[in-house]
Amino acid sequence: MLSNSLRDRDIASQLHPQTNLSLHEKTGPVVMASGQGVEITDTNGKTYIEGMSGLWCTALGLSESRLAEAATRQMGVLPYYQNFAHRATEPGIQLAETLLEIAPVPMSKVLFQSSGSEANDTAIKLVWYHFAAQGRPEKRKIIGRNRGYHGTSIASASITGLPHLHRDFHLPLPNFLHVTCPHFYREGKPDETEEQFSTRLANELDALIIAEGPDTVAAFFAEPAMGTGGAVMPPKGYFEKIQKVLKKHEVLLIADEVITGFGRTGNWWGCQTFGVEPDMITCAKALTAAYMPLSALLISEPVYQSMKAQSEKIGVFGHGYTYGAHPVACAVANEALRIYEEDGIIAGVAAKGAQLGGLLTPLADHPLVGEVRGTGLMWGIEIVADKVTRAPFDPARAIPAKVQEAAFAQGLVCRALGSAIAIAPPLVIRPDQIDAVHKRFSTALDQIA
Ligand code: PLP
Repeated sequence: MLSNSLRDRDIASQLHPQTNLSLHEKTGPVVMASGQGVEITDTNGKTYIEGMSGLWCTALGLSESRLAEAATRQMGVLPYYQNFAHRATEPGIQLAETLLEIAPVPMSKVLFQSSGSEANDTAIKLVWYHFAAQGRPEKRKIIGRNRGYHGTSIASASITGLPHLHRDFHLPLPNFLHVTCPHFYREGKPDETEEQFSTRLANELDALIIAEGPDTVAAFFAEPAMGTGGAVMPPKGYFEKIQKVLKKHEVLLIADEVITGFGRTGNWWGCQTFGVEPDMITCAKALTAAYMPLSALLISEPVYQSMKAQSEKIGVFGHGYTYGAHPVACAVANEALRIYEEDGIIAGVAAKGAQLGGLLTPLADHPLVGEVRGTGLMWGIEIVADKVTRAPFDPARAIPAKVQEAAFAQGLVCRALGSAIAIAPPLVIRPDQIDAVHKRFSTALDQIA
């Protein structure tokens, strides 16, 4: 007989993404019931600090009434209208204008989707369309980076550089290439400075583009700081050197700001924190603080001009999603952007990040920890079996996952990502809650050591 518990109903009915399915049949889910500020409470009444902002997205916590009110207002006026073929709504126009105003480099137009994966797929298609418009359709290869994460649709997963997202899915697609992850701690050579490491990676990219043929390489995708790859910060000089190579070969740079956009690294954009000057930007998550699904693609004027020229030749620009520029999602995003500005949320990240970083950094002395890295409210703690050789634990022992679970038992949500643990709390976290994050995480580390 089937039990009526939420656990059993979930096991019987739902397929969970990014989940070990056979393990799920044994453990079932933790069912979350309500959110208050940066805390989340499960159906057993246990409360946790949401130290990962959900999936790096609930930047304003879980009970921001202004966002709920913005959604309700728009629902009452116009809950949906489409954006295809010369139709628009006011919230979409307003949001596009604001994004162009705050963009880290001059951008020309904004195209909306509902998810980060869709934004990156759209970026790939526009890159192809742009070069096709210039009479160079063979310039179409896309370069991503090992451990980069750009989504799970077929194309965005192809840019992604995580093998478990490719395995048994026949991915990556042809013409998607990957270069070394810019993680100095793991990929740097013993006798190399950070700057030399960056030079080596830029040379590697240059050599790859030359070997493939610059006329066949269209774009390079990069998260300003890598999220799912383990909260990896770029090494000194990295983007400056990479950008020189890309410019030389007329390869477009797409900054995936899905995690880093809207304050996560202490500035509005990760591009500002790390000196990235992209031709296109994709963003999502904190755009609406995750209260509604929405993503945006910002494109530069030259890209727009070649698209327009192509549209004059071949007619309509043949791309778009039913829910692109959804007016309720755009109304929520407009309100979220107002809150970030009016309440000084993004301006406050530097001090909160300094507090969190100041507490986490000394954990580098812990026997399980090889490196503590991060900026703003985006931190990674590298778990190692051997601090001298930097060897990670055998994946079968799942030590990072055990630390994650021990932290969860302590009332802290953090996330094991490969050999690292990520901590990225909502931007509205209070100083006393930052102290609690550190305390609960340290206790978890001690329990597993
Ligand atoms: N790009 C980055 C950097 C991400 O972290 C994610 C999701 O975590 C995506 C793209 C994909 O976004 P979505 O899950 O909304 O498709």
